[in-house]
Amino acid sequence: MKKKMRIVFVVLVLAGFLCAVSSTTALAAKKFVSIASGWVVGVYYPLAGAISNIAHKNLPDIKITVESSGASVANAKLIASGDADMAILQNDISFYALNGTKPMFDKPVANIRGITALYQEHCQIQARKDAKIASVKDLKGKRVCVGPLGSGTEQNAMQILEAYGMTFNDMGKVERLTAAESSDYLKDGRIDAAFYSVGVGAAVLVDTAMTLDSVIVPIDAQAADALIKKYPFFTKAVVPKDAYKGMEADVPTVAVMAILVARAEMEEAMAYQITKAIFDNIKDIERAHAKGKEVTLASALNGMSVPLHPGAEKFFKEKGIKK
Ligand code: GLU
Repeated sequence: MKKKMRIVFVVLVLAGFLCAVSSTTALAAKKFVSIASGWVVGVYYPLAGAISNIAHKNLPDIKITVESSGASVANAKLIASGDADMAILQNDISFYALNGTKPMFDKPVANIRGITALYQEHCQIQARKDAKIASVKDLKGKRVCVGPLGSGTEQNAMQILEAYGMTFNDMGKVERLTAAESSDYLKDGRIDAAFYSVGVGAAVLVDTAMTLDSVIVPIDAQAADALIKKYPFFTKAVVPKDAYKGMEADVPTVAVMAILVARAEMEEAMAYQITKAIFDNIKDIERAHAKGKEVTLASALNGMSVPLHPGAEKFFKEKGIKK
């Protein structure tokens, strides 16, 4: 009896050992990739989630995890430090990162490489209707959220104010809040307006407009021209009147592009696999957010402001969209 039990014990230990060995080899085979995205109530986050799901369903060796963040500027720094393998960010900010433009970056993010352009992000200033802000000029003396810490939005807010001859010092109060907080502050009347450089239809703006009488403040053609001249990544754009509850007409503004990037250190084969999986499963990107419909192979290089990752380049060459 004792002998039998000893045999059972040995068999169990052996089985446990084999299980452990096989699961560590499975783990060793699996490669972990992190994407620095953006605001949970923005568009980067749901799109990064869709990319993670695509990998889950189609790339058994790659596990992609999604991190939320302040967004563009913070994300470029995460690429530099290696704390993120991939990131979504604005094409203006990625260009500043590559070039180490001060004061945003104290040194160049030399390892930032493009995977694909994604969609247009509009500079949207949402204001309480009762704050009576009809023009950017009316932000003078108001309580304004200029974007989350580490956002591209904050940089764009500075540039937009500059086009009107203003700075943050002209505001009554400047807040740097997460996007979700700035929505709450607007609704509670703790701020009068908030800047967001984000895809039209982002949850943060939709949700605020649902419960608060709000407006989108226009950026007029003259200011847009001045902005484009000094910061060429801006293009003229329009927030369509059906974008948010309470809008009465289309609102002119400027826009940049959201792009997906990876670290130069990512293996070529992996960058290729991920790029291919995205475009082979583009329907999953389209389902994640209305903005996903703008992600197409034909526009994959539009506004790409950093050198392509060799893995992405290989895929685009195969598809004939890159020579
Ligand atoms: N473009 C935004 C920023 O960098 C982030 C938008 C998002 O999270 O969807 O400020």
